[in-house]
Amino acid sequence: MSSPDDAPTPAPRPPSETESAPAAPTSKVDFTTLSDEELAALVVAGTVAPHSLEADLGNCARAVRVRRAWLERSMGVGVGTLPHDVLDCEAFYSSVKGACAEMVVGFVPLPVGVAGPLLLNGKSYQVPMATVEGTLIASTRRGCKAITESGGAQAAVLQQGMTRAPVLQFPSAMRAVAFKQWLEDPVHFEEAKAQFESTTRFGKLLSVKVTVAGRFAYARFMCATGDAMGMNMVSKGVNAVLEHLAATDFPDSEALGLSGNLCCDKKPAAINWIQVLKTTVAAVCELNLAKNLVGSAMAGMSAGGFNAHAANLVTAVFLACGQDPAQNVESSNCITQLTPVNGGADLHISCTMPSIEVGTVGGGTHLAAQKACLNLLGVAGSADASPGAHARQLAMVVAATVMAGELSLLSALSAGHLVKAHMALNRK
Ligand code: NAP
Repeated sequence: MSSPDDAPTPAPRPPSETESAPAAPTSKVDFTTLSDEELAALVVAGTVAPHSLEADLGNCARAVRVRRAWLERSMGVGVGTLPHDVLDCEAFYSSVKGACAEMVVGFVPLPVGVAGPLLLNGKSYQVPMATVEGTLIASTRRGCKAITESGGAQAAVLQQGMTRAPVLQFPSAMRAVAFKQWLEDPVHFEEAKAQFESTTRFGKLLSVKVTVAGRFAYARFMCATGDAMGMNMVSKGVNAVLEHLAATDFPDSEALGLSGNLCCDKKPAAINWIQVLKTTVAAVCELNLAKNLVGSAMAGMSAGGFNAHAANLVTAVFLACGQDPAQNVESSNCITQLTPVNGGADLHISCTMPSIEVGTVGGGTHLAAQKACLNLLGVAGSADASPGAHARQLAMVVAATVMAGELSLLSALSAGHLVKAHMALNRK
């Protein structure tokens, strides 16, 4: 097996004489008098650190240009065709700095298309999707059409919360038990809640449950995070609680790690339809049973994997809307159910997605392009009158878009149209 790491690394190219770096220490150099190339030479020479260019130059767009030149000099190969120049460059790179990426050398343009109209809870949406898989948006649009023409999708958020489950180690199993009893006591929970909520205006600690395994205790904190996806918010609050407990009742606790893997959002959606899908109710239901349920079970997929391609839709909407793309893993947990109704004349489809992790503030949601996509859905920023409403709305749009994608792909598969569509729309 080979990976990009196995590829031979081009030998570093030493700077030529004309490129040689000024020898003066950074503090004595007036960067404004130097060209980008001269600055790059300073970085190659180690006089200026490549990661601190934004701070040293006080200009984010220039930092990107200099870093590109440094990369080319030091590696002998650069990122020539990777775009870096955008309208209002400085505003773009300033909004990236300290929030979205480090060591920036440009950006990867992704085509964004819209799928819709998607009628969801009585409102019509055009859903922005960023992808390089030809057919994905066209197929989702077909699913949207089927859903909309059948009266629209209904979706509901049953529970909203983000969890963090740090693992703590104690000197004995009995101390771990004491910790559980203490933290789950309602009076002590209020103490923990006060600590947690001292770190945030919008975060509210809802519950904590502790699981003990020998000397380890896993404390699963669940919190409301308003319109934010909330991972930073929750981590900060949980840290404050653990520090408080270590300084008071549990000085013998050792926080081994802050990370956990439990999720609690529940967002089902349902709708029925058929016709533009060029298949039959019986064929698509039979395929869903054989593929999404039996096939997934035989492959040993986890409970979240009983679907056709939920991750495709989740990722495309996440990229367009400034969400954390790696969270497509848990956010794509989905069971798709198809049932014939009305004696087989109609189809009922539902997608149950228990852990969609989205936010409309924080992370990459403030970047201009991503914000424009959130605006298209009417959910950009904080829902000030009712914090959390925008995030819930976005979660429901994600679930309904998944349902449109599931409906269309399953129909294409059962009608034997998948390869034909990919040959037409996914190949140059
Ligand atoms: P964040 O940008 O860190 O925090 C959200 C900020 O928005 C808070 O300062 C909050 O204020 C403020 N805010 C304003 N209006 C709000 C409203 N209506 N609802 C909620 N908050 C509001 O965002 P986050 O969602 O907590 O974290 C997202 C980032 O975490 C992403 O970049 C993601 O990639 C990253 N991430 C982190 C981890 C981790 O382990 N730390 C794991 C996965 C992903 P208050 O603080 O005063 O409430």
